[in-house]
Amino acid sequence: MIIDLDNNIKVIRPEGKAMFPYCNSIYIDDETKTLIDAGSGGNAYAQIPKEEIGLILLSHSHFDHTHGLGYFPQARIMAGTEEQYAFQDENKFYITAGFQRWEELMGSQKEVRMNTDISLPDDVLVKPGFRKIELSGVFKDGDEIIVGSTRIMALHTPGHSVGHYGFFFPDNKILFSGDLDISPRGPWYGGYDSNFGDVIASVEKLIALKPEVLVTSHRRIFKDDIEKLLREYLQIALDRDEKIMAYLDKPHSLDEIAEQELGFYELGKTPHNIFWSKVMILKHLEFHIQAGEVEDLGNYRFVRI
Ligand SMILES: [Zn+2]
Repeated sequence: MIIDLDNNIKVIRPEGKAMFPYCNSIYIDDETKTLIDAGSGGNAYAQIPKEEIGLILLSHSHFDHTHGLGYFPQARIMAGTEEQYAFQDENKFYITAGFQRWEELMGSQKEVRMNTDISLPDDVLVKPGFRKIELSGVFKDGDEIIVGSTRIMALHTPGHSVGHYGFFFPDNKILFSGDLDISPRGPWYGGYDSNFGDVIASVEKLIALKPEVLVTSHRRIFKDDIEKLLREYLQIALDRDEKIMAYLDKPHSLDEIAEQELGFYELGKTPHNIFWSKVMILKHLEFHIQAGEVEDLGNYRFVRI
């Protein structure tokens, strides 16, 4: 489905739900036909002139934003400078996928490196895992990308991943915020290169732009109460932070913290969700250790100072 935001800025919504493995894309039908993200699936892309797409901007390297790049072999591809390694360096890619901590945090060996054996819909071209992708260029925070009459501002918004970007259209105050996605479960920062403090700063940065239209990777389009929505979204992580800190008035282990009701398991208490929840708790702890508010007692035990 294609939804017009103005004459030449459109949202491409996946045929299935805009959830993993799919994401929303932005299509800019201008002098240089441009796509932001490539995870909407082949059925959704059947509605645009695929062979005419000249440029693809990637919000970040996660699979659900990149698996459709093969539909656009002639397009130039750009990503944020902080995350270009994920397209070029296989070793670093697998390290930042984060699963090398699995055994340590879960107490058992993870059999596969990633979810490479999952079954995916037919219009998803590839499986998760490293694919070398030639970038034609990189962007950095504040860069203006001009594709005809449309100006796109690149916004470095790390936290979800280190090179995560949002894109702002300053002339009509449309914001594409990528995986800072207003999920009712709050922000996700369970990656190796995720950072809780950066999530807070990035959401504040989006609010400061005073967007009038908000498109995220995984939800519908929002036109009202955008600041409130962003604040409520961030608050989920801040409430969690408060609970973790309150619980650490006595020393506790990571496993004990993960047993607390922190809102991590709404999509099921699967091994992956448990693993990611532990990584996210560690992101909270790292933030407070750095601020001198939590002490690391070793052996994954922590206490508030
Ligand atoms: Zn992501």
